[in-house]
Amino acid sequence: MCPSEPVKHPEIVPTGLDYVTSVESTEVVSIQENYDLWIDGAPTKPSTNRYFQTVNPATEEALSRVAEGGRKDVQKAVEAARKAYNGAWGKMQKSERAKYLYRIARMLAERSREFAVLETLDGGKPIKESRDFDLPMSSAHFFYYAGWADKLEYAFPGLGTDSIGVVGQIIPWNFPMLMVAWKVAPALAAGNTVVLKPAETTPLSALAFARLTAEAGLPPGTVNIITGDGRTGAELVEHPDVDKVAFTGSTEVGKQIQHRLAGSGKRLTLELGGKAPHIIFDDAPLDQAIEGIVNGIFFNQGHVCCAGSRLLVQESVFDALMDRLKLRLRSLRVGDPLDKNTDVGAINSPAQLDKITRLVEIGQAEGATMYQPPCELPERGYWFTPTLFTGVSQSHRIASEEIFGPVLSIMTFRTPAEAVEKANNTPYGLSAGVWTTKGSRILWMADRLAAGVVWANTYNKFDPGSPFGGYRESGFGREGGRHGLLPYLEGGW
Ligand code: NAP
Ligand code: MG
Repeated sequence: MCPSEPVKHPEIVPTGLDYVTSVESTEVVSIQENYDLWIDGAPTKPSTNRYFQTVNPATEEALSRVAEGGRKDVQKAVEAARKAYNGAWGKMQKSERAKYLYRIARMLAERSREFAVLETLDGGKPIKESRDFDLPMSSAHFFYYAGWADKLEYAFPGLGTDSIGVVGQIIPWNFPMLMVAWKVAPALAAGNTVVLKPAETTPLSALAFARLTAEAGLPPGTVNIITGDGRTGAELVEHPDVDKVAFTGSTEVGKQIQHRLAGSGKRLTLELGGKAPHIIFDDAPLDQAIEGIVNGIFFNQGHVCCAGSRLLVQESVFDALMDRLKLRLRSLRVGDPLDKNTDVGAINSPAQLDKITRLVEIGQAEGATMYQPPCELPERGYWFTPTLFTGVSQSHRIASEEIFGPVLSIMTFRTPAEAVEKANNTPYGLSAGVWTTKGSRILWMADRLAAGVVWANTYNKFDPGSPFGGYRESGFGREGGRHGLLPYLEGGW
């Protein structure tokens, strides 16, 4: 935990207060020793006979062994999805489909504590985030798309309401359950059936969700979950009877998938990486901006595609802002993700920890100045101290590459035009943040920033009714909102 020890600073008012640990109980969750694949509404042994471990990244303890799906299993899952598409789900009245989605939404809300604890155990994110963000948002996505299921003709007048067929969906490990909801809810609302592959390090919430759909009475084959690593994902992408692929993950893998699908006639949407500019003007309310900056980069350990990982500060307020930001970092609580007071949890995997460590070393070697608050990290598990870099130039790798960890690269600017130029100097285009009290400046900036989402005087705000997605190397397609239906309707994206 980063101790909030007093520092010599004009504004500091040390309270001397600390929090008593308050650890969420795990009794609400029951985790099986082994999980098979979920095909045609039932657990199904993998043809590979292989299982892999998923661990708790905060303790390195093994949680369960999960089936590794191979080509034959993908075949089985796609067949089950096709059968459901041609049968029970595909032929069901739209208003009936809506009832299933509402039921799933309600069940997720009712069981949100269980899912939140499971998510935190398997992925390492703080319980206050899985409890207050991931699960409420997951349930809200199902509620939102349940509302559209029987009103599709009003979504895009003239487009028609035909679904596409069998959808292959691949998701990453940073918001495992929320990504299930973002993918599955609109696909089902539009009448498609699904084969979904969760990430190797965080498969448990998708497998729990599969069981929840059975309890909801969803026709078998409507949602199939194929666990495994990237090879299982590649099998799904290449299966000839998959009509559409929806991928969320790294730009590198997204590009490979786009190459592989070129000329296949399969529909594709890609939600990829980002290196978002977070821009602070000199008239911004600095104390509020500090909270926005902290949320922007340390939420979910910075494992966030839209993380505000490039801070651009107007030169005249740089010193004042840095003082406050360093001070604020000292009160960030890093540690047990199940503790309700924890702000920054565990890094998701040793591989991700290596990547963050390597890029931070490169940042130092390239001459940027690093600041880390005094911070005692737990002995076991994968951890990284919240980190700031100043003296960063545009050409530094930490200013251009996605670190996907709790590391903020800070630069300065003098004029709005310079802020825009620096902000857009990236191959990505997912999100951006602007802090200023001038409404006209917000609109001026939003017009010029190459980003799918621009937040003003806030950051990381989501709503199921609001579309999310990127430009350029951040991908194409939108998730959320009415636009989130388009990838799942004939004639859409
Ligand atoms: P990743 O390596 O691209 O993996 C994403 C998913 O694809 C995982 O399920 C992965 O399986 C699977 N996969 C890996 N190689 C594959 C292949 N050749 N063919 C098909 N599937 C394959 O990305 P990640 O490191 O897990 O996730 C972090 C990235 O996701 C970041 O770049 C982040 O910005 C991005 N992201 C974007 C959004 C958005 O909405 N734009 C949201 C969240 C995250 P395994 O994990 O089992 O290897
Ligand atoms: Mg895990």
